Amino acid sequence: MENNAYQVLLYYKYVLIDEPELFAQTHLAACKEIGLLGRILVSHEGINGTVSGTIEQTQAYMDMMKSDERFADMMWKIDAADGHAFKKMHVRAKKEVVHLGLGEDDINPNEITGQYLSPTEFYEKMQQDDTIVIDARNDYEFDLGHFRGAVRPEIKNFRDLPQWMRENKEQFEGKKILTYCTGGIRCEKFSGWLVKEGYEDVGQLHGGIHNYGTDPEVKGQLWDGQMYVFDQRIAVPINKVEHVIVGKDHFDGSPCERYVNCANPECNDKILCSEENEHLYLRSCSDACRTHPRNRYIVEHGLSEEQVQARLEEVERVKESVKA
Ligand SMILES: [Zn+2]
Repeated sequence: MENNAYQVLLYYKYVLIDEPELFAQTHLAACKEIGLLGRILVSHEGINGTVSGTIEQTQAYMDMMKSDERFADMMWKIDAADGHAFKKMHVRAKKEVVHLGLGEDDINPNEITGQYLSPTEFYEKMQQDDTIVIDARNDYEFDLGHFRGAVRPEIKNFRDLPQWMRENKEQFEGKKILTYCTGGIRCEKFSGWLVKEGYEDVGQLHGGIHNYGTDPEVKGQLWDGQMYVFDQRIAVPINKVEHVIVGKDHFDGSPCERYVNCANPECNDKILCSEENEHLYLRSCSDACRTHPRNRYIVEHGLSEEQVQARLEEVERVKESVKA
C-alpha cells in the first residue's frame, strides 16, 4: 500500500566539526531515538547524509539540525516515499566526507569552489556554445541517466577524476565548464579543484540533480534516464516533461533501467539487465563470473551442476545466434 507517509532526506554541509568520532556517536544515538534509518558520514570537513523516516520523524530531525548553528542554513532535499529507503542506521566518522584523493592539496569548498548555478541558470548555460558539461559521478551512475550531451569520465571512483581530467585536458581547454552530481557535495570539491587547476569559467549545479528535478521551472528538462541513488530506491525519476531511456542492457543492449549486482561476490559490479537476462546469464557480468565457485545466483536458486551446465549452454547458443 502506497501512502507517501515517509520522506527521504538528502543533505550535506561543509563546515568544521571538531571531534567527528564523538559527534558520530551522539548523532547516531539521536537518530536512533527519533527512529530514522540511513547513512551519514561526518568528518572534520563536514557532514553528508541520506536518511529516511516518517514525515514526523524526518521533521524532528530537521528541527534538531536547524537548532545547531553549524547546520542552520543547510539545504534539505526531500523526497516523498512509501517506506524506509534503508535497513539500518549508520553514522560513521571518516577522514573526509568526499574523497577526491588530493591528500595535502585537498579542497575546502568554503575557500575555493565553482560558481553556484540555480537549476534555471544551469539549464540556460548548458545550452550555450563553448560549454562542456562534465558529470562528476561514477560511470555506473552516468549509465543510468545524465544531462543530454554531458561528458562521461571513464572512472570507477570519484578520486580518479582529477587524474582523468589531466589526461584529457585538451578537450576542455578554453571552454566554459559546468559540473553536476547527485546532491551537489562532490561538485563543490571538484569545481574548486577545477578553479585551482586554472579553469576560468567553472559552474556547478547548486543542490545537484536532485534539486534540478524538483525545480518547478526547469522540471528536470534535458535530463535523460533516471538518477542513481545510494539507497534501496536505486533509481529516481528527474525529467518531468519526457522520459528518454539511456540505460542499456549489459547483455543485449536493449533499453534498460534495472540495476543488479554481479553474482560473483568478488566482482559485485553493477549491471543493467532485464529480469529475463538476469536468469539466463545467472546474474553474472562475464563467463568468469558465471562459473565462479561462490556464484550467489547459483546458491540462491539452488541450481544443480546439470542445471548450471544447461544454462551455460543456452548462453552460448544465444551468443552464437547474435553473431550470426
Ligand atoms: Zn562480474
